[in-house]
Amino acid sequence: LAKEQGGNDYCISTPEQKIKMDRLFNIELEIKDALKKNEFHIEYQPLINLKNNQIVGVESLLRWSNQALGPISPGEFIPILEKTGDIVTVGKWILWTVCNQMKLWQENGTLLQKISVNVSPIQFKETNFINDLQEILNETQLDASYLELEITEGTILEIKDSAKTLEALQGLGVKVSIDDFGTGYSSLSYLKQLPIDTLKIDKSFIDNLDADGEIIVNTIINMGKNLRFRVIAEGIENKQQLDYLKLQKCHEGQGYYFSKPVKSEVIQKLYHQSSKNWQSID
Ligand code: C2E
Ligand code: MG
Ligand code: MG
Ligand code: MG
Repeated sequence: LAKEQGGNDYCISTPEQKIKMDRLFNIELEIKDALKKNEFHIEYQPLINLKNNQIVGVESLLRWSNQALGPISPGEFIPILEKTGDIVTVGKWILWTVCNQMKLWQENGTLLQKISVNVSPIQFKETNFINDLQEILNETQLDASYLELEITEGTILEIKDSAKTLEALQGLGVKVSIDDFGTGYSSLSYLKQLPIDTLKIDKSFIDNLDADGEIIVNTIINMGKNLRFRVIAEGIENKQQLDYLKLQKCHEGQGYYFSKPVKSEVIQKLYHQSSKNWQSID
């Protein structure tokens, strides 16, 4: 309606738009105190070695549940935290919590090879990022080589000096993976010049395996492997997708077929049933 009246995007006129704006307003209001009120927690999703079906690591995923608004997905609230800049403070809390959790797992014999954490571009380009991370590693006593940071292609391409930050991470001994790989415009040959360890093939490509998308996935896996990246497929939901990825010798996989993101205690249990044959879950 607003469009027909001359295209003013700022003209909020329909009831749907009003509801959207109210929700956004309420989220912005409530998220201000979310950290203080302990409303955030982290879930962990297993990363599976496709050669032997063992859990090799986890990806940490932020969760927010608010009294008035109920659970809200990161897709909705992360952009708001980025807009207000609060992602920097929340991001530090995430990194501390995740490093500490990994250390706790190591102390109780849950010996994962890595824990990966999503990092927002706002966090990544912040001047204290490397210092803060160093401090968190010192405080939690986690060996840096167990930590992997997930950043998107956009983060690397759009942020001036991103190569310097990547080198500083390498200096700390922290690993880096490219999240949602294939959805941006970076070339593998460019990424190869940077200290990057892992490519995570975006879920959209795995979805398309069900509809003749093999050639693209196959190409990414083979080029990625030839360039000595570790290759992970995200969003594996069925056995057909898994079988194809195994056939192509993709290193690792992640998705609801194996497990949804779960609480830390559940990861511990899954790890200890490590001889579990994931293929039998249907
Ligand atoms: P992402 O990093 O690409 O994370 C993968 C998303 O796919 C997660 O959604 C996960 O729950 C979901 N997923 C995993 N396997 C499957 C599957 O088989 N099927 C389907 N349909 N979905 C699957 P989630 O937790 O809602 O997170 C969405 C995005 O929000 C993340 O995408 C990431 O970009 C961002 N995010 C989540 N946690 C954090 C965080 O701690 N910090 C930052 N900066 N961003 C985060
Ligand atoms: Mg991720
Ligand atoms: Mg991803
Ligand atoms: Mg994704």
